[in-house]
Amino acid sequence: MAVSPSIQYSDEELASRWRDFFEDTGMRGHAIMLADEYPKERSLNVQFSQVNSFNADLASYLLENPAKSFKAAESVIGGLLPAERGYVKLHFRVEGLPLDARVEIRNLRSKHLGKLVCIEGLVRKATEVRPRLVDAVFKCARCDRELHVLQEGVMLKEPLECSKDVGGCGRVAGSTKFILLPEESSYEDTQKVEVQESPEGLRGGAQPERLEGFLIDDITGKISPGDRVILNGILTGTQRSGPQGKSTLFNIMLGVSSVEYREHEYDEIQITAEDIEKIRYEASKGDIVKKIAASISPTIYGFDIEKEAFSLQLFSGVSKTMQDGTRIRGDIHILLVGDPGLAKSQLLSYMSQLAPRGIYTSGKSSSAAGLTAAAVKDEFGEGRWTLEAGALVLADKGIACVDELDKMSDNDRSAMHQIMESQIITVAKAGITATLQARCSILGAANPTYGRFQDEQLIADQIDMPPALLSRFDLIFILQDKPNSSRDWSIASHILKAHRVGERRKLDHTPEGVVEESLQEESRVVEPEFDRDFLRKYISYAKRVNPILTDDAISLIRDEYLRIRKEGEGQGASVPITARQLEAYVRLSEASARGRLSQLVEKEDAERAIRIVGYYLMKLAREGDVLDIDRITSEMSHSQRSHVSSIIDIIRNNADEPGGIPIEEIITQAGKRKIDESEVRKIVEKLSRTGEIHEPRNGFYKLTQK
Ligand code: ADP
Ligand code: MG
Repeated sequence: MAVSPSIQYSDEELASRWRDFFEDTGMRGHAIMLADEYPKERSLNVQFSQVNSFNADLASYLLENPAKSFKAAESVIGGLLPAERGYVKLHFRVEGLPLDARVEIRNLRSKHLGKLVCIEGLVRKATEVRPRLVDAVFKCARCDRELHVLQEGVMLKEPLECSKDVGGCGRVAGSTKFILLPEESSYEDTQKVEVQESPEGLRGGAQPERLEGFLIDDITGKISPGDRVILNGILTGTQRSGPQGKSTLFNIMLGVSSVEYREHEYDEIQITAEDIEKIRYEASKGDIVKKIAASISPTIYGFDIEKEAFSLQLFSGVSKTMQDGTRIRGDIHILLVGDPGLAKSQLLSYMSQLAPRGIYTSGKSSSAAGLTAAAVKDEFGEGRWTLEAGALVLADKGIACVDELDKMSDNDRSAMHQIMESQIITVAKAGITATLQARCSILGAANPTYGRFQDEQLIADQIDMPPALLSRFDLIFILQDKPNSSRDWSIASHILKAHRVGERRKLDHTPEGVVEESLQEESRVVEPEFDRDFLRKYISYAKRVNPILTDDAISLIRDEYLRIRKEGEGQGASVPITARQLEAYVRLSEASARGRLSQLVEKEDAERAIRIVGYYLMKLAREGDVLDIDRITSEMSHSQRSHVSSIIDIIRNNADEPGGIPIEEIITQAGKRKIDESEVRKIVEKLSRTGEIHEPRNGFYKLTQK
């Protein structure tokens, strides 16, 4: 705004400006309507632009002197209401502040104190709504006179004397006591929230900064942790008090005037008409999913299929609400399990920066909320309970990249099932019962418990995660570090080239002894196909497409599902895949169609999904020539399970032996059934642990009587 910042109004001028504003813009009529609904309606919301187009000076004064302006506006409104309405007190709240009032939390400075500012962020914490004293009524202990003291701030203000002006006895504090009368006093609802900078605004792994906000009356109780909000309010300083008394250092806090909610992830990314033209053009050239895959972490060599799956995850499938109200998630959950040093963490952090609303975190995060959410009673709440959002709630409508997922806390572990399927988390503790949304895709990484992944062993034995949780991932990729000279050559060359490109970027010329042409060639290799800004725009644009399955795609997916299921037909055979995988096919093919900006999920999308799911199943669930989904989703594979029943058989057949059957005998008999010794010992150990068999004396086993 090209207005001089130093406008001054006297109190009368200010009041008359506001009076004119309310009269001339028809706001007065609106206020009268609200007053009819009082106390259900307690706020008069005004758009900043309305004030600005009425009188730019008044608007500018409002930004510079908000506390004074609010007070004046509120008292003017009070005076404009017909007296017969009785007691009505409307809050004056301003929304839609201009861009120059918008400040990033990290840029808040002392010059912003007392000014009207607009803060955009992600709600991390919200306390319970609790009353605060506004009009405190005291009684003089000597003369019983009642005295009113208006409260501002956090510390209780008591009367200084029992003033004769209001008919009191005139004694001062010290020669009389003042007793607070809670029932006579009046209160208003308050709530404290903490917002942090949205990850979008952060560059290069910076930690988000935080700000406390204070809400009063009718706007309390509406904000949930995880919400994306714009808070408009007055920045105020609160004096720190330390052990040595009051300090000259101040903390900052926002006295919130109004809250605006950000519904869609794509509200945050501005896409121009030119952008759309470029997006459509790139999509029309074909092969877009592959090109996007090639733009994910180009310095990391290989992982072509994994990167293709990541690009589908960026688009995600279509989330659906059925007629009966059930919701089916569209988000695609992916887990990377792999040996150390295979660039898992690198891939995750890259993805978190690429994905709109992406968040990178570790399973063993230190905050109380962990991955999910928690109700805590700490300093922030000043005695109230606070609901705190964890990473998966903060990543609502985005991608949560969780490194070292296997190290998550027990609390998170139990909440994860609910989050991954229904995408909500319920917290019920003390005064707080809340349901938070966590509609995010999870990209997890886990390290094998014993260092390296062993092909033959079940995944459940190798990573510290319950099988029921594993079964909720749409895709699980095993990354293994197996020496292979041609691949190793390529990886090594790629890594070395990437380093040389990085070194060259620090220099202003190419020194002698290094060939300029080969440098240029190398930098092309590690350059992404699309830059990050364009990709983010592409993704948010593509996510607006809601494609629908064609008959072709349906029959392809159905045939593939039936083909694999058929392998499991016949007596005692394994279950090769379940309906969970069927849903994975659907989500992946929908994402593929979105990636192409296609309204239809076509044959090529279904084929891509089938190829990717097939790749992971063959690596993880293959038992001989057939698939066995139990290798992923339970503690035991199908063949192990039949071995377990053989061992139980053997022990049962020797039930007559009063002292139990010796382990050597079990091993001999099991050997005849082609079960080797180490497996017998493992199974016996497992069965005694679960209490199905017991050991009456050392080395002898009996079935436990039930
Ligand atoms: P992890 O999390 O799997 O243990 P990191 O992400 O910490 O592994 O990666 C270790 C280092 O090795 C990183 O600097 C990464 O860039 C490099 N690296 C590993 N594999 C590759 C690869 N295929 N291409 C390029 N760099 C790689
Ligand atoms: Mg790592």
